Amino acid sequence: MLFGALEAGGTKMVLAIGNEHGEIIEQKSIPTTTPAETIPIIVDYFKAKGIEALGVGSFGPVDLDRNSRTYGYITSTPKLSWIDYDIVGNLKKELNIPVGFDTDVNASALGEATWGSTKDVPSSVYITVGTGVGVGVYQNSSTLHGMLHPEAGHILVAKHPDDNFEGVCPYHPNCLESLASGPAIEKRWGKKAIELSNRDEVWELEAYYLAQGIVNFILTLSPHRIVLGGGVMHQAQLFPLIRNQVSQLLNGYIQTQQIKDIDNYIVPAALAGDQGVMGCIQLAKLEWGK
Ligand code: ADP
Ligand code: ZN
Repeated sequence: MLFGALEAGGTKMVLAIGNEHGEIIEQKSIPTTTPAETIPIIVDYFKAKGIEALGVGSFGPVDLDRNSRTYGYITSTPKLSWIDYDIVGNLKKELNIPVGFDTDVNASALGEATWGSTKDVPSSVYITVGTGVGVGVYQNSSTLHGMLHPEAGHILVAKHPDDNFEGVCPYHPNCLESLASGPAIEKRWGKKAIELSNRDEVWELEAYYLAQGIVNFILTLSPHRIVLGGGVMHQAQLFPLIRNQVSQLLNGYIQTQQIKDIDNYIVPAALAGDQGVMGCIQLAKLEWGK
């Protein structure tokens, strides 16, 4: 059985075909321009493929409330031509198949929870640290939506006393994304993150901020495991630094087996960059089964 996956990003769209086991059969990406230009290319790609359903993991904010008049819309995005765009409605109309829908990072959380590093635990938090910081939450066999959907990349963190950087988020000088995203690293240190690999102070400070976020997610959501993905997390030296800072901040307060085994609690994504696409395949499969 074949399913379609659309990972809709602000700069590129990843289109893929996979089966019910999450195996990706083919994949390609196209640049994200305007809906008028991009959507017909997507429709043409999926039309001839014999897919049963499509799963869309989208940049946002998006409307995930099935009772809302604007369900399936990309809403107040900074990408102007996509503001209030009915992505689900238009794809459904053209393809005439069920279309599952979630945020891009919830799709990654779902991909890892179905086939990756959290497939053996009932709840998890997936954090992507890339151009932005995004957080997806998986609990009770589904992703958490709530009023809108978590926007936990924007939680506020305490500034390091030696950090004079003003932040990159236009809304919050001291949110996690503002201080710890890839662009924040680049702007603070004046070099691409990848070129700063051997600068210990860069990754100590990065871990200082990410650990604050993670501790807040542990305390509020109590996930069974936390997965970290996104471009910045290619810096594998971050993992021990983050685990160490998380332990220090928790300060012995949470005493579960999982926290005691922190190396298996805070882990890298296991699906090697395919977690988003595989999550979209699972979204398609779930929608098809509804
Ligand atoms: P996006 O968030 O746009 O989907 P990525 O997850 O690849 O894409 O994140 C891009 C960000 O990650 C950029 O700021 C880039 O500098 C940073 N990045 C990409 N690869 C690396 C790497 N190997 N080490 C450190 N930072 C990286
Ligand atoms: Zn912010």
